[in-house]
Amino acid sequence: MEDETCIFCRIISGEIPSKTVYTDTQCIGFRDVNPQAPVHLLVIPRKHFASPLEAEEADEKLIGHLHRVAAELARQHHITEGFRIVLNTGPGSGQTVFHLHLHVLGGRPMRWPPG
Ligand code: AMP
Repeated sequence: MEDETCIFCRIISGEIPSKTVYTDTQCIGFRDVNPQAPVHLLVIPRKHFASPLEAEEADEKLIGHLHRVAAELARQHHITEGFRIVLNTGPGSGQTVFHLHLHVLGGRPMRWPPG
């Protein structure tokens, strides 16, 4: 269910513009407004839920689909040599938007462990 206070729901509805790179019936992909790498995309489900902590069994297929879309976007943006899919979960992880999203980061060397 859409949450009208959620910035990502408002991007999905078109109320807030985004640099969209992908859409289908289940999710959309767009460029992060504050990129942390030469390629920094976000893949978000159309369904609003905050994080895996709120995911239900019925969401398993959707969460898998988001990862396949992330991989396809990595191919399209030529970062398959080494990229990172990040799913921040909870304020202590740095999550600031409480609508589940995958970050797809690439185009520069990735350090480990992340900060
Ligand atoms: P997180 O910190 O994991 O919750 O990630 C939220 C991400 O959303 C951050 O990297 C922000 O830069 C990004 N973001 C916030 N608002 C927008 C927006 N309007 N368009 C694109 N990216 C956004």
